[in-house]
Amino acid sequence: MPAVSAVFTLLVMNMLRVDAVYLKPGDFCIALRPTIVKTVLGSCVTITMYSARTKIGAACHALLPTCREDQGPQCSTGTCQTASRYVECIIPEMARRMQEKGMVLSELEIKLFGGADMMMESLADHQRVGSQNVLKSKMLLARLGMTIKSSDVGGAAGRKLIFDTRSGDVWIKRLIP
Ligand SMILES: [Zn+2]
Repeated sequence: MPAVSAVFTLLVMNMLRVDAVYLKPGDFCIALRPTIVKTVLGSCVTITMYSARTKIGAACHALLPTCREDQGPQCSTGTCQTASRYVECIIPEMARRMQEKGMVLSELEIKLFGGADMMMESLADHQRVGSQNVLKSKMLLARLGMTIKSSDVGGAAGRKLIFDTRSGDVWIKRLIP
């Protein structure tokens, strides 16, 4: 009966309903509903935070290691106005917001991606934005006692990223440099 199958299709679609978010450079999101988060990374980094208990996921797309607007203590407490562009500011902000949603930092699954260096041969370590983004991320996560469960960082290739907040899974596709 066509009427029955139409209802069934609608039900299935409803059950599979997932939001989609594309993170532009400098964006971040806290996904309270099932969400597929996508982004493309070069030297920028994405940190994902995920709680299997609440199914809440957070992800950022940070451009630079340290805050250009340097708002002092606000940067390290997650209340910097321009937080989402900088690793230094967005990690505390994501942590703070997840805590506000009732999660403790120790339950969060942390993953780190990106930080490619596009011009490896000509620059010293301290000039490579990608390397610095990765280093800063690792340092700050460690300071907050957050263990990185998996990561795919560095190299010369950009990355396409997909984060599924139904499971916390992240898929990476390396882009040809
Ligand atoms: Zn800041």
